[in-house]
Amino acid sequence: MNLQVASTARSKEFPVPRVFEQLDAIRQTVLAARAAGKTVGFVPTMGALHEGHLSLVDGARAECDVSVVSIFVNPTQFGPTEDLGRYPRDLERDLRLLGTRGCDLVFAPAADQIYPAGYDTSIDVGELGRQLEGEFRPDHFRGVATVVLKLFQIVPADVAYFGRKDYQQTLVVERLVADLNVPIEIRVMPTVREPDGLAMSSRNAYLSAEERRRALALSQSLQLADEIVRAGVRDVETIRGKMLAHLTSAGVDEVQYVAFVVEGTITPVRSVDGPTTVVIAAKVGATRLIDNLRIG
Ligand code: AMP
Repeated sequence: MNLQVASTARSKEFPVPRVFEQLDAIRQTVLAARAAGKTVGFVPTMGALHEGHLSLVDGARAECDVSVVSIFVNPTQFGPTEDLGRYPRDLERDLRLLGTRGCDLVFAPAADQIYPAGYDTSIDVGELGRQLEGEFRPDHFRGVATVVLKLFQIVPADVAYFGRKDYQQTLVVERLVADLNVPIEIRVMPTVREPDGLAMSSRNAYLSAEERRRALALSQSLQLADEIVRAGVRDVETIRGKMLAHLTSAGVDEVQYVAFVVEGTITPVRSVDGPTTVVIAAKVGATRLIDNLRIG
């Protein structure tokens, strides 16, 4: 069999999912599936898919009868000087990848479908939206919460899947559905990493080979924190100092925060005495990266 034939056979084996651009059409399809007794799992994404996203699709497929992925680069969660304009977009590639994972339906709306002229309502996330990421990206979680609630209205699924990679975002979404009585279950799936430890991210595509090497310091510093705690050290300032030393010596350009919080919250701790999560944000070159690890 030559390669041409092999790849045709493969693409036949993995049909691309049904793509919807219109709100009403996807909503009616999801409602009809649920009315027929099927469970629906939903994975919101901004596209430029990688194994992290696809692990959420696997989760939805494993637990639900119908899987839906949205692909929408949400303008309201980007700050005015951020990377909205150059965020990677490749719908065809995304659809092929989703086909290989058996995704059923894709919702890929145009921006004016989600934000029609005159749009003027948004969700204020409160304190959770102002700390950590919120300090460096002031309106980020307002944009996230608003689009997530809109997507939950358009895709009224049983379960929605989010990645632990965006730790604070998972807390924001859980807070949102609890506070606003949204009838959907939230599942948080583990962070998927490259073999060397770098957390997968669509933004890794911005990194040059040399920046990619320096970016490894984020996950390494989290591992270091874990090792130090396992060796019996509890004092956060001591651990943070060692992490910062590693990040600096590895050539990370700007550490925005390294925070130790009670697992499942953003409440800071001074000593690692119970389940604790370390969250980190740093810039390598012009690329801003985040990561986190549960320790202790
Ligand atoms: P994004 O396209 O960046 O908005 O991400 C869509 C979803 O994929 C979010 O719930 C992310 O937390 C999740 N995600 C992104 N990267 C990873 C990763 N490396 N591992 C697991 N989930 C991820």
